[in-house]
Amino acid sequence: MFIRSSNVGYPRIGEKREWKKALESFWNGQIDKEQFIKTMEAIRLDSIRKQLEKGIDLIPIGDFSLYDHVLDTAFMFGYIPERFQQIDDALEQYFAMARGTNGQHALEMTKWFNTNYHYIVPEIGQTKPRLVENRLLKEYNLVKETFDLETKPVLLGPITFLLLSKQYERHEWRKHLAQLVPVYVELFKQLSEAGVSFVQIDEPILVQDIDDDIVDTFRDVYEVFHRDVPNINLILQTYFDSVSHYREIVALPVAGIGLDFVHDNGENMKNINTYGFPKDKILVAGIVDGRNVWKSSLAQKATLLHHLANVAEKLIIQPSCSLLHVPVTTKHEHTLPTELAGALSFADEKLDEIRMLTEYMNGNVTIDELIKYDEQTNVYFAKLHHEQEQTAETVPVSRVPYTERRKAQQGHLQLPLLPTTTIGSFPQTSDVRQARMKWKKGEWNDNQYKSFIKKEIAKWIDIQEQLQLDVLVHGEFERTDMVEFFGEKLQGMACTTNGWVQSYGSRCVRPPIIFGDIAHLYPMTVEETVYAQSLTNKPVKGMLTGPVTMLNWSFVRDDISRKHVLMQLALAIREEVLQLEKEGIRIIQVDEPALREGLPLKKEKHASYWEDAVMAFRLATSSVKEETQIHTHMCYSQFEHMMHIIDELDADVISIESSRSHGELVSSFETYEYQKEIGLGVYDIHSPRIPTKEEISEQIERALRVLRPEQFWVNPDCGLKTRKEKEAIAALKAMVEAAHEYRKRLLAYGGMKSWK
Ligand code: GLN
Ligand code: ZN
Repeated sequence: MFIRSSNVGYPRIGEKREWKKALESFWNGQIDKEQFIKTMEAIRLDSIRKQLEKGIDLIPIGDFSLYDHVLDTAFMFGYIPERFQQIDDALEQYFAMARGTNGQHALEMTKWFNTNYHYIVPEIGQTKPRLVENRLLKEYNLVKETFDLETKPVLLGPITFLLLSKQYERHEWRKHLAQLVPVYVELFKQLSEAGVSFVQIDEPILVQDIDDDIVDTFRDVYEVFHRDVPNINLILQTYFDSVSHYREIVALPVAGIGLDFVHDNGENMKNINTYGFPKDKILVAGIVDGRNVWKSSLAQKATLLHHLANVAEKLIIQPSCSLLHVPVTTKHEHTLPTELAGALSFADEKLDEIRMLTEYMNGNVTIDELIKYDEQTNVYFAKLHHEQEQTAETVPVSRVPYTERRKAQQGHLQLPLLPTTTIGSFPQTSDVRQARMKWKKGEWNDNQYKSFIKKEIAKWIDIQEQLQLDVLVHGEFERTDMVEFFGEKLQGMACTTNGWVQSYGSRCVRPPIIFGDIAHLYPMTVEETVYAQSLTNKPVKGMLTGPVTMLNWSFVRDDISRKHVLMQLALAIREEVLQLEKEGIRIIQVDEPALREGLPLKKEKHASYWEDAVMAFRLATSSVKEETQIHTHMCYSQFEHMMHIIDELDADVISIESSRSHGELVSSFETYEYQKEIGLGVYDIHSPRIPTKEEISEQIERALRVLRPEQFWVNPDCGLKTRKEKEAIAALKAMVEAAHEYRKRLLAYGGMKSWK
């Protein structure tokens, strides 16, 4: 039987983020173009060499990118928006599209399906596509020359590409597709002439709820490919969930079908069992989890593979998706508890698993060897999971009705009309970062570091008083990342030293690992918050990260249900909320910027996701007294269709990013009657530009067309962490002035009564 190993995509960033460093040094002008290209090529070839040494049969090329693979596809086919067309240098043009220039804004960026990776959204416009440069051919040839190796070019399929793009009329998408298909054919022909045998064409759109007419379009397009380039073996690749129209899709005229057998909820397997799998096709099986960091249970995978081998005549074994979503290697992790480290498998280790499974299926490795591999992970998992004693059922998930709470809070807080506040963080200057480095390296002891942080807090409490903000914050100077900070302190979570994953462009994140039962061990934020409160009579808001965001931005145990982990996180955050309250903190903000990020790709699963998310937030926040005001903050999502969910969270005050969404959010309040308090960000914190008082007034005015003044808060879009101190202060000054002016005007109309 034909059984081969394969990879879907390999991380770009290098073992020690060499890729990120090269990009940033190039952008900063520290290295020149030639040096940059040489460095990038070395990183790329090194990753091929590694995969070769691991014995992977089908090694992908084209998965590497200088920024993002969707941008690469757009660029390769000439979808260059007009505003960038005068740039001659191709590399400069490419980065201009990704990052913008002084005068021209970048292409939009958005999340890649349900992952934390962000892709650049291509702009189609009136462009007639053409093959500007066959990048795949170049890479294929280079690797062939360097290693004497046949590789598998990978590219995004035309249908997913177009459906992810924007700036064209949806009803005209077939016209654009008709222009694009011949360009793909041309590309395939060139590859075929160069000797390419397998091409992986990614169409992840197939796992979403797609209409029948899109399925028909798939048939049309892939028939053209089959007719025009019969020598290329196309592998139609899907991932992140099960294929929605299984029977139609496996019947498409391609050589192989790539299915995800990890994140499909068992649906792909069910379909195979019910409808079978075509004998003439290769079943390309995503077996090893490409999105999580745990070692596979190889014995279990072996059973699955035997089953698949009975159904299909030809089998390729690979990860469930590109390994872009996991860190490169566990090799550099030296600080994790040994047992935990032994249970982890990042990209390189996952490829070893693929190889072992393939060898096993080909009779070169025994089942005993697989069982032996599994032992350490099994022991580890068994030991760490104890049921949480405190069960969620005994904890309240609702508070007294909002109108009653509101009265109690008004009495307690005495806030003016249109209260002003910020989202939590203040600039993390190089002083702050250096202090943290010194402390981490041991040059500073805990006391030195703590007193530095306190000085920063005091400085900013003073600034906020001067600015006359109404609700103050301590500034979050002690935090690098809003999830990692809590991950380091909660039981059951661990932070890696080198477990970086690309988030967007050169930005990488290091998601914590949830490895055991989560529990609150000691106060995590009380000291700083209480200290800040001791310096002022105005209320200081306590700042916490919410359970849903913690879950969505971490790697989670996969032998326990996500819901279970989520509720444990909620209970731990609840404990911190209560401790802050006990110490006299009157306002507590539980941030949920990633509330929407874990939303499943298939609509039928949405309701239960929301139910759990709402429940977790309420578990965390409903145990406080009625006079304690709960805030939450959200950003970077489309909130228009989720006002009812936001409402159900039952936070007293919510702040939402809105200055970028150009009024769409504001207009959603025309149809949705929201009763509680809300701050729609009145300026964009991502730009260094200082907004004028007039601009901010306009934003307030726009919001007050649909919201009542007594429910409106004035605040920036998001945390001010990335701004310079001067910028932050100047912008806040304009914001407070605008709020004060507005407040005066409203009061002159006869005070609050008139709006009630
Ligand atoms: N409180 C956090 C901050 O201000 C919120 C960050 C976020 O929304 N991503 O930095
Ligand atoms: Zn935010």
